[in-house]
Amino acid sequence: MVLCSLCGREPAVAKLRYAGVVLCRECFLRYFEERVRRTLDSLGLTHELSGKLVAVATSGGKDSLNTLFLLNKLKEEYDYDILAILIDEGISGYREFKRKALEAFCDKFKISFKVVSMRDSLGYDIDTVAKLSYEGKIDLKPCSVCGVFRRYLVNLEALKAGVDYIATGHNLDDEVQTFIMNFIRGDLASMVREGPFLHEDFPGFIPRFKPLYYVPEKESLIYFMLNGLETPYVECPYAPLSMRYYIRNLINRIEYASPGTKLRILSLKEHLRTIKGKVPSPSLRKCEICGMPTTRRVCRTCEIRMLLSRV
Ligand SMILES: [Zn+2]
Ligand SMILES: [Zn+2]
Repeated sequence: MVLCSLCGREPAVAKLRYAGVVLCRECFLRYFEERVRRTLDSLGLTHELSGKLVAVATSGGKDSLNTLFLLNKLKEEYDYDILAILIDEGISGYREFKRKALEAFCDKFKISFKVVSMRDSLGYDIDTVAKLSYEGKIDLKPCSVCGVFRRYLVNLEALKAGVDYIATGHNLDDEVQTFIMNFIRGDLASMVREGPFLHEDFPGFIPRFKPLYYVPEKESLIYFMLNGLETPYVECPYAPLSMRYYIRNLINRIEYASPGTKLRILSLKEHLRTIKGKVPSPSLRKCEICGMPTTRRVCRTCEIRMLLSRV
């Protein structure tokens, strides 16, 4: 039996290859939660969240459920209320299962939640978009449309509910993938802009933070399982069509061959964020159609809806 590298007493359940240690259940849970708490503190949220309403944008997957679980656990200590928001994109064979998982989770932990239908709110669901894309009728990938529409609806729903902050379940792996994707696109402004906390002083923009920003995906899965949390392991059927899917597999292979790669990329990302002020980035304005914050004359959501209406 391999014993925990920290306490030396209990059997190890988690191996952190990049740090060369193994941890027992109790030491792992403590290490994990301490890191999330340190993240919130480093973002200046320790007192800031007091008396506020925090929406957790959740997909019903392990990372967003972990975020909901942790923020629910910390809400007395930090003195805030939480609300879960789920966007139903209309992806059959996937969404209905994850939605049930979220509903069961919120019932169990007595968390209020809202489900917003993409079709009812914006007129289109992702199954329809994917079909149009597959038939060559539109030059848009389902995942790009889904990302734009989901972010838009979370912000809109949070505004309606009087939310002060939005928390998302992005983990370290997601952040590294996004960074590499921005690198491939040559998008320096996004490379230096995206971090654990996004705040723009503009009406209608709700500040967003990412409690799992420094947590590798594998550790998020271990935390989820050790806490006995459940979600069906179905993946979005369109995920393999996305650039992210390819990048994710590639980085995982490199990480396996060279442990610590993801941490090194994240550290480079953090370093680059210090030059944010020196990189020109477009300022926010109101969308001429819907009035939501955007960097364009017409926001991407309104633009995509116009494209779809012409098919
Ligand atoms: Zn231990
Ligand atoms: Zn708009």
